[in-house]
Amino acid sequence: MAIVNGLSVDVEDWFQVGAFENVLARGDWDHLPMRVERNCDAVLDLFAQAGVTGTFFTLGWIAERAPTLMRRIAEAGHEMASHGWAHERVFRLGRKAFREDLARSRKVLEDVSGAAVRGYRAPSFSIDARTPWAYEVLAEAGYAYSSSVAPVVHDHYGWREAPRFAFYPLAGSDLLEIPVTTAEVGARRLAAGGGGFFRVLPYAFTRWAIRQVNAEGRPAVFYFHPWEIDPDQPRVEGAPLRSRVRHYTNLRRMAGKLQRLTAEFRWGRMDVLADAERRRAVRPAA
Ligand SMILES: [Zn+2]
Repeated sequence: MAIVNGLSVDVEDWFQVGAFENVLARGDWDHLPMRVERNCDAVLDLFAQAGVTGTFFTLGWIAERAPTLMRRIAEAGHEMASHGWAHERVFRLGRKAFREDLARSRKVLEDVSGAAVRGYRAPSFSIDARTPWAYEVLAEAGYAYSSSVAPVVHDHYGWREAPRFAFYPLAGSDLLEIPVTTAEVGARRLAAGGGGFFRVLPYAFTRWAIRQVNAEGRPAVFYFHPWEIDPDQPRVEGAPLRSRVRHYTNLRRMAGKLQRLTAEFRWGRMDVLADAERRRAVRPAA
């Protein structure tokens, strides 16, 4: 029986990408054309054709402005989960502001989708060694799981020492952390759970990585963004060349790659994956 992997979409628009934050201020967002609704509808069509369900980690900022989209996502059988309010990284918020960010986004997500929110993904995988309080805040707020850690080194994110697979970050709590997928090549650990790596590198890299993880008996956790299937999005001038190259490469090929990926492996919601991983998840040393 093939392993069911976790399929996730980080619902944010083309102007909310972390790599562009020094060019596009939050105050500008309301003056820019939103494309997330049509892009998400295309993702919903793609998932429906593939017969898969997944989790939509959504910004509160988006849910407030596209409420009917949230309802369409939930009614199609997908999980509605939180990606925070306006893509502020957790280590920049601090404990109190993080608690407020979580509460504000969850309220609007639940109000407009009609579904309960049990899962959270930190913007830019920004839970790491700098935020020991973050899991306490998530547990107090009653979240069942987080998928907020990238156990690799990367120029924008990463917590190299974190476990590769599901673990309980707090003693005495059932809050589960499910890191995004990495693959191991010898002593090296590579980000392999999607994002730019999936879009920029050949499809065969991700296929190899997911097969490797499944051969270890574990589910892969894959993510992408709605803007990644939108070749016609406005181009952001003035961002660093490296960020622009990463952002705009292979947008036209992304939908086809996703069709291949969803056909080749089994996929499901992150909350279902979390429940399946609980038995095997690592507990912290007492
Ligand atoms: Zn994000």
